[in-house]
Amino acid sequence: MRQPLVAGNWKMNGTRDGAQRLVQDILQGLKAGHKAEVLVCPPFVHLADAARALKGGEVLLGAQDLCAEDNGAYTGEVSGAMLKEFDCRYVIVGHSERRSLYGEGDAQVARKFMAAQKAGLTPILCVGETLAERDAGETPQVVTRQLEAILDTAGIAAFARAVVAYEPVWAIGTGRTAKSGQAQEVHALIRGLLKVRDVKISDAVRILYGGSVKASNAVELFAMPDIDGGLVGGASLDAREFLAICAAA
Ligand code: PEP
Repeated sequence: MRQPLVAGNWKMNGTRDGAQRLVQDILQGLKAGHKAEVLVCPPFVHLADAARALKGGEVLLGAQDLCAEDNGAYTGEVSGAMLKEFDCRYVIVGHSERRSLYGEGDAQVARKFMAAQKAGLTPILCVGETLAERDAGETPQVVTRQLEAILDTAGIAAFARAVVAYEPVWAIGTGRTAKSGQAQEVHALIRGLLKVRDVKISDAVRILYGGSVKASNAVELFAMPDIDGGLVGGASLDAREFLAICAAA
């Protein structure tokens, strides 16, 4: 049985006070006996406050990105070891905004994936096609390329300590969600690609769906056999909405 994971990606939003309020509201609103693992990924500068507030509790902390290098002259960057010091357990790698706005390619994403694991963090590897790629019928090829780039570099064993997130780029922040069947199709493809290399690991790895997940569509998405929770952007900034998504998982 895979425990569902609901992860909130706060992106570059909020103030220091607002972030603290959001953490408190999530902590207070989380229902006892909830099934899902719950994770928040605030901006780097809010991690220290969040780590203090979340210490010993049921909500886990993650980061939105990390540097592929261990340390050195990399102005503006943050290493995996630094994130670990602030109690981060997870880190998002290869988010489509990093790929499209900051030019991160598969090779760099693979290096970040391995840097995360080296630091003791669990990477949440994002893959997904653009609208043009979907319209051209290239979704399977794009997702296969993105996933296999990491598999070929890090090896299948690394996926015993990783999460995959399928995030169709056309559904991120657009209010347009993939239909549950469309998402399931890609999730099954991802699990199948892992299965070819290791059945046990493919059965255990959690594959999240991301792309305009809301309380109103979470139940249907999470009911799909290969969807193991969500990576939630916009809706994770509203505690009530985020908690309702957690309850759906
Ligand atoms: C995301 O950025 O990972 C995401 C899924 O965003 P949204 O939920 O806002 O589409």
